[in-house]
Amino acid sequence: MNLAAWLVRAGTYMGDRPALGLGRAVVSDYRDLAGRTARLAGAMRTKLGLRPGDRVALTMSNAPEYVEILFAAWHAGLAAVPVNAKLHPNEFAHILGDSGARAVFMSADLAETVSGLPVETLDHRIAVGSRDYDALFAADPIDLAPVAADDVAWLFYTSGTTGQPKGAMLTHRVLTAMTLNYFADIDTVSPGDCILHAAPMSHGSGLYLLPHVVRGACNVVPESRHFDPAEMFGLMARWPGMAFFAAPTMVKRLVDHHGDVDTTPLKTIVYGGGPMYVADAKAALDRFGPKLVQIYGQGESPMTITFVSREVIADRSHPRWEERLGSVGVAQSVVQVRVADGGDVTLPHGETGEILVRGDSVMTGYWNNPAATESTLAGGWLHTGDMGVMDADGFLTLKDRSKDMIISGGSNIYPREVEEALLRHPGVAEVSVIGRPDPEWGEVVVAYVVPTDGAPDIKELDRYCLDAIARFKRPKDYRIVESLPKNNYGKVLKTQLRARDAADGLAD
Ligand code: AMP
Repeated sequence: MNLAAWLVRAGTYMGDRPALGLGRAVVSDYRDLAGRTARLAGAMRTKLGLRPGDRVALTMSNAPEYVEILFAAWHAGLAAVPVNAKLHPNEFAHILGDSGARAVFMSADLAETVSGLPVETLDHRIAVGSRDYDALFAADPIDLAPVAADDVAWLFYTSGTTGQPKGAMLTHRVLTAMTLNYFADIDTVSPGDCILHAAPMSHGSGLYLLPHVVRGACNVVPESRHFDPAEMFGLMARWPGMAFFAAPTMVKRLVDHHGDVDTTPLKTIVYGGGPMYVADAKAALDRFGPKLVQIYGQGESPMTITFVSREVIADRSHPRWEERLGSVGVAQSVVQVRVADGGDVTLPHGETGEILVRGDSVMTGYWNNPAATESTLAGGWLHTGDMGVMDADGFLTLKDRSKDMIISGGSNIYPREVEEALLRHPGVAEVSVIGRPDPEWGEVVVAYVVPTDGAPDIKELDRYCLDAIARFKRPKDYRIVESLPKNNYGKVLKTQLRARDAADGLAD
């Protein structure tokens, strides 16, 4: 089944319902949206000359148009490549080139940057809202393109351990499984409900527009296009029945936001993507009541590995309530989850190992990367790279992320990318980057630098980072040291470094 069939159907029998909102305004109903999408799909095929299976990238800040471009790509039998709008131009160029995208849709704020990128495969660079964009809707609508369940619908670029993002192939089957699982485990969606896209639509929030289109609910984008607590509270009364996806740090900022807004009209907050401190989960429950659901997922099994239901989160009387609040919950309905040792043998309850996942929500592999695909999907199980422990009731608690990934403000940062940027500086002999626990951001990036000769200028180190990687990835703290802790093979021991960092923090 083609995912775009959901929008065609919504346009037919729920045509009058609001489909897209911007701030407080409805900008489109489902009849209008389905019509525009079918015409845009026609333009992609006839005017832009795209062929089934071609990739269409979206380098866009959140926008109502995100929905029509995604669905038009599927409608036309193409694969969408949503790209995180906060990335560095080098990272845009890598993803556009690696995916072999033939067309890119750019939001106005990114149009200049993306237009200037040297990407050979790109035949079309279209700024959303431009005259060129509007002209596409003059095309004749086309019928839904036939697709196979295993055709790629969404290339989801995740950071790789090597620092280069890899494209997880999410097929029509994968996203169908994720969508139906939303209704099974996460939330109900009724006519008149909406989802507010305050988190990036290239990631979790955008994935969750699917169940809302299925049910004919409204996809609302805040006028600021991003996460702003005051604005979100203001929109709750305007859009009763609202759900939104938020990283734990966003939930914390909402809780900390002063103001006495009545949150009765709010339906659901789904949080995940990074660790939530138990104290913060309790504070969120106090503020919002039983409206919280936690998910654990990754690009390779989007939004769909485990969950903590709203009932479990709100059940203060349960003897293991706190423990469960600190866990990522139980397996979602469409997947099997187990914890295994290095040989993929399932470990007994209570023992820590790698989390493995199998089911229809798991990607079919990494785009053009058979070696990474083979190791990550070895034996038919997704090797998440996350370490965890399962209790006798099936509740999973994440331990340490193998791979040493840092999650700051809900965004993944791979230390190696930052290390590579810093190592380009002539004054840096060695560097090791770790995450330091932080109550506001979850973790912040800290760089331990061994200088070649005298301490390098911190401002200059920062400039090297800004020249190579996204702003949010640069270290918040630099520590100049004589040497790094290493094992016999010369490999830096990040665990020791983190322990030292924590001890220094206590001493400070
Ligand atoms: P991404 O592929 O960008 O969605 O990042 C996925 C990674 O984020 C996972 O592999 C986990 O390490 C982490 N993650 C996702 N959800 C949670 C959660 N609920 N709690 C803690 N970490 C999480």
